[in-house]
Amino acid sequence: MIAPRGWKGIVDDLLGQIDEALPVGWTIEVEEVKAKYGSLRFYYQLHGPADAAMRRLINARLDALVQAAEDRSEVTCHLCGAPIARPSPAPGEFGRRVTVCESCRVAYDMHGMRMP
Ligand SMILES: [Zn+2]
Repeated sequence: MIAPRGWKGIVDDLLGQIDEALPVGWTIEVEEVKAKYGSLRFYYQLHGPADAAMRRLINARLDALVQAAEDRSEVTCHLCGAPIARPSPAPGEFGRRVTVCESCRVAYDMHGMRMP
């Protein structure tokens, strides 16, 4: 699982919330954690009993938790974890958007480095 280091706290909190939300007998398998368009993306598979109604309920609950984490990532520097007053994605390598705070952006500009 690879997440930008500034978002480690968000991912840790999300995993804790998912753990609390999962009823006994249900588990998740994290498929991918990454940054996309300046926002966190968290993909998972839900495993549990063959109970379609319960599965829908749990999926809805987990999707809401994932959405909240993605929203939080949009106002959190993905390099250092500092809160960003308003979303300020900067163009990174290959023109993709990255979410960074002003001091990280300046530091990278100063060194002429590409956004990781
Ligand atoms: Zn930063």
